[in-house]
Amino acid sequence: MSADCLFCKFVAREIEPQVVAESETAFAFRDINPQAPTHVLVIPKRHVANAAELAQHPADAAGVLALAAQVAEAEGLDTGYRLVTNTGADAGQTVFHCHIHLLGGRGLAWPPG
Ligand code: AMP
Ligand code: ZN
Repeated sequence: MSADCLFCKFVAREIEPQVVAESETAFAFRDINPQAPTHVLVIPKRHVANAAELAQHPADAAGVLALAAQVAEAEGLDTGYRLVTNTGADAGQTVFHCHIHLLGGRGLAWPPG
C-alpha cells in the first residue's frame, strides 16, 4: 500500500467507494464521474502506478482482466464494451494507481479523443 494513494485507501476500505466486485488480486468500483451508463474502474490490489508496472506482476495483471470480464458480464454488456488504461500526462492519467476504465452501455466512438 502506498500511504498517499486514494485507490489504496479504497482497497484497504479506509475510504468506501461504490464497490462492484472484488477478487483476491483485483478490485472494482464505480467511477465518481461516469462517462457512460457503465463506468467501472478495475484496479490491482497491489499498488503499481500504471499498466507497464502491472505487467511485471502477471498474476495481478491477469486478475484485473478477469475481474473486468466478470463485471462486464454482470452488467449485461453483451453488445460490447471498452477497456482503457491511461498512462502518463498526455493520456490524461490523473490517479497514479493503475486502473482500467470499463466503459459500456452506449455506443462508443472510435478513435477516442
Ligand atoms: P484517469 O484520469 O485515467 O487517471 O482516471 C481517474 C479516474 O478516477 C477518473 O475517471 C475519475 O473520475 C476517477 N475518480 C477520481 N476520484 C474518484 C473517487 N473518489 N471515486 C471514484 N472514482 C474516482
Ligand atoms: Zn495505490
